[in-house]
Amino acid sequence: MSGYCILVFATTKMENTGSSPRPKFIADQNVGKLAKWLRMMGYDTTVFEGEDDSRLVRIAMNEDRVILTRDTHIMRRRVAKNGLLKIILISSDEPELQVKQVVQAFKLDCQFQAFTLCLECNQPLQAKSKQQVKDLVPPYVFQTQSQYVECPACHRIYWRGTHWAAMTRKLERVLKETNQENDSRTS
Ligand SMILES: [Zn+2]
Repeated sequence: MSGYCILVFATTKMENTGSSPRPKFIADQNVGKLAKWLRMMGYDTTVFEGEDDSRLVRIAMNEDRVILTRDTHIMRRRVAKNGLLKIILISSDEPELQVKQVVQAFKLDCQFQAFTLCLECNQPLQAKSKQQVKDLVPPYVFQTQSQYVECPACHRIYWRGTHWAAMTRKLERVLKETNQENDSRTS
């Protein structure tokens, strides 16, 4: 395991030691796909839909969330410069590279908890029994799957089907590549 960590801005404190809570994020709407990936990893990530930077900053400060954005304007704010605000300025357009950047900045790969949050609403998912979802999932799913979770907000039901497997594989590959890149940089 590599100890490499990118601190995107030297003024911000991003060390994630074992005792500190898992980081929470607020994603600007220009990195909405990244938010879904982080939720898939189990990281509480809200998406900011508005245009008003000062509201975004206020929410981030109040809820202790790290801002993820592609917008450089926000870096000119005083709270950003003095390190009170945690921001990762996302450098790529590609969601996969964005995930790598955040994983590297926070060393997230060791704490990955797949499918604990709704990918759409960021709500903690609740376990459901097979009988509870009987009439809510397609018959072939009911026959082949035994574990289900439901979002209390949008009532989407998730199971470990082919879509889940494909996303997990993709995420595992991204995390593996990130580690390899880290190792080649530190060795
Ligand atoms: Zn939901």
